[in-house]
Amino acid sequence: MKRRDFVKTAGMGVLAAGAAALPPVSRAARPIRWKMVTTWPKNFPGLGTGANNLARLITEMSGGRLRVRVYGAKEIVPAFEVFDAVARGTAEMGHGAAYYWKGKVEAAQFFAAVPFGLTAQEMNGWLYHGGGLELWRELYAPFGLVPAPAGNTGVQMGGWFNKEIKSVADLKGLKMRIPGLGGEVLRRAGGTPVSLPGGEIFTSLESGAIDATEWVGPYNDRAFGLFKAARYYYYPGWHEPGSTLECIINRKALDALPKDLRSIVLNACRVVNQDMLAEYTARNNQALQDLIQKHKVQVRPFPPEVLQRLRTLSEQVVADIAAKDPMARKIYASFRRFRAQVMQWTDISERAFLNARSG
Ligand code: CA
Repeated sequence: MKRRDFVKTAGMGVLAAGAAALPPVSRAARPIRWKMVTTWPKNFPGLGTGANNLARLITEMSGGRLRVRVYGAKEIVPAFEVFDAVARGTAEMGHGAAYYWKGKVEAAQFFAAVPFGLTAQEMNGWLYHGGGLELWRELYAPFGLVPAPAGNTGVQMGGWFNKEIKSVADLKGLKMRIPGLGGEVLRRAGGTPVSLPGGEIFTSLESGAIDATEWVGPYNDRAFGLFKAARYYYYPGWHEPGSTLECIINRKALDALPKDLRSIVLNACRVVNQDMLAEYTARNNQALQDLIQKHKVQVRPFPPEVLQRLRTLSEQVVADIAAKDPMARKIYASFRRFRAQVMQWTDISERAFLNARSG
């Protein structure tokens, strides 16, 4: 026997004997360790804790074979570098929102929030059962990333303003933190949209660097203390009717996992996607009442005239994105088709019921 073959055979023998002698739990003794970078301040209610839940679920469901550690914005990379960090493998996974990557891949915005687009329930319908998720995966494939829906805020609030919005003219010259497609709509309405990660919003609003901001809804906005920096709290969040949060996973890291762990990672995302919406549904009104009663926040609806103008501009903005490249066109076509169909059903189900309940 040649020496090389001998070494190989002997080695295999040792391996086989070793494997047989060790109890099955030995696999857990050497866990796979993953890092999750996020766009949220560490442990931020709802969004950051959603990321924490995702990591905990993966670790628990895998019996500790895959352990995920969460890093808040700036701990490894700044909020807006999460996409690149996961793409290059600095971290195996990330948690954020797809519209933060619009400078890199504009059509990603369809998978976070479209102004006057889909509610959380409809968004999940499109993503899981209407072809949306397949398109999202196709969009991120060139970056070596696999996306998964991993949280939803439900309908957001319109935002915090230091002056009343009584007409379309009040949007002119308004410098507002508003990301994604909503920001572009504001620009066309005469405002100046600014993109800022969550952690920088309060100081920007307080210092007057911005005139207004949107963030999420009462539960999150109270946590940032935005009521201390602006007086008027407008609704509804026309620009984010059911924002999907995303988990991005490095494709090579995911492919290297055994099949059961891959399934655990993707299904844990699915659990968190649902659970976050439940948490917001449970906590938003509590926080809203606190904002009104304790902090004397003035809650106002946007005037119908303003919403109508924003809706018209939104349709143009979304259509313009779709005209930019074939992939965006394909996503837009799917989105529009789904929305047209689901709207008919929502009208005679959710809307009809809600009207009946409050009537
Ligand atoms: Ca928002």
